[in-house]
Amino acid sequence: VKNGKKLEEMVRKIEEEFWVPVELLKELSDDMVLMMQKGLEDEESSSIKMLVSYVDSLPSGHEEGCFYALDLGGTNLRVMQVKLQGNRTIELKAESYMVPPKIKIGKLHELFDYIAEKVSHVFESVKADFDTVPGKKRELGFTFSFPVHQTRINSGTLLDWTKDYDAKDAIGKDMVVELSKALEKRAIDVNVTALLNDTVGTLAGGRFNNKNVVAAVILGTGMNAAYIEQSERILKPYGLPPKSGQMVINTEWGNFNSSLLPLTDYDCALDSDSPNHHKQILEKMLSGRYLGEIVRRILLSLADDAALFGDIVPPKLRQPYVLGTDIVSAMHGDKSTDLSVVGKCLEKVLEITNVSLEKKKVVVKICEVVATRGARLSAFAILSILKMLGKDKTSAGETVVAIDGSLFGKYEEFKLCLQKTLADELLDEEVSKMVVLRQFKDASGIGAAVVAASQSIYD
Ligand code: ADP
Repeated sequence: VKNGKKLEEMVRKIEEEFWVPVELLKELSDDMVLMMQKGLEDEESSSIKMLVSYVDSLPSGHEEGCFYALDLGGTNLRVMQVKLQGNRTIELKAESYMVPPKIKIGKLHELFDYIAEKVSHVFESVKADFDTVPGKKRELGFTFSFPVHQTRINSGTLLDWTKDYDAKDAIGKDMVVELSKALEKRAIDVNVTALLNDTVGTLAGGRFNNKNVVAAVILGTGMNAAYIEQSERILKPYGLPPKSGQMVINTEWGNFNSSLLPLTDYDCALDSDSPNHHKQILEKMLSGRYLGEIVRRILLSLADDAALFGDIVPPKLRQPYVLGTDIVSAMHGDKSTDLSVVGKCLEKVLEITNVSLEKKKVVVKICEVVATRGARLSAFAILSILKMLGKDKTSAGETVVAIDGSLFGKYEEFKLCLQKTLADELLDEEVSKMVVLRQFKDASGIGAAVVAASQSIYD
């Protein structure tokens, strides 16, 4: 009984700590807009870098030709052959590989050798389709979902690793040069014509498909966003102003930090145990890499202090990152009356058996509380992008935000809460009717191919 009461109290306190009221979401959004504006003036003075992508024209949807794309995300490496056929149609051949954890934290050349091997493999398998023109090289767009500093479209030096990458000696190196070196070593005949963030790729790919796309958001392993900015508002130096008057900005908003963020002890502990502490603070509150870990930390404290799983704390529960966000999503979505999915997940992932229905309900509650906070915070961040675009008050024409990533694509409760928070709490009714969050699965590969096409050295 004593433990029961304690558990109830702790859960109530956690619910309170993780609830972000709408007023705070609005204040956070104002703060984020200020940081974004600062980032456009001077990267150093803002937690949001607002990186210039050097993509200054977006696809019309009528591009044609055969191009290649390479997409290095937090979890997968994808190699694609994309045949653009005009009129918004494509033909796509793609292979996905799970990057081995050892490679993610090994030497930089090992990572790129691994990538080159996979590229070589895919090029071999699609050889027959490639109508080789003598003297003409293949052209490839490289989507790379880590922050780089670019000075032109086909070059960029790594600023920081994020998510669970930590390959040594990489910071400050040009990712296109390193990739090209590894490709040359294998005598792979290809020009890397564009380097772009996955958000920029998603924006380009989304736009190829739908002309109302003006921003892209990734909610997957990490979180990030890109949007189309008026070039005259970019006050920091970046080269010649584009003829189009527009420039795609890769916000790197996952690094947002503010004294207004309602960080809990769980967030602070997660951050201080992470390899990149003090960085990616917003991302660590909500993205796929971290949601499960936050839930694990809460369950552990409930087990430690209120005997959630009995007198002995299950040892597996002490293992960092053992609980993935996919499992949180499965448990949260358990519709069975006896919460059998929760039972199975606890057994399989945490080796906890014989959990009572009441305790399983507590587990679901914690998943819900953590995911709800994540979704609400994602909503304020998207509001900030709409403000930057001047689309938060007016409702003339449809505004499409292209979204990709498993957190949005596969976590139904998360997605619904995000959409509802934005539509019902943050936007006026008239505006919210015109703002569409649409999933564009794997659009970044198509985007990379389209941007490679726009940078082609051939006619
Ligand atoms: P990436 O962002 O690495 O390119 P994804 O968009 O697939 O790739 O995101 C992977 C992240 O999504 C992982 O952190 C994983 O835990 C999480 N994830 C995978 N499946 C689900 C799911 N069903 N519900 C919620 N999160 C998921």
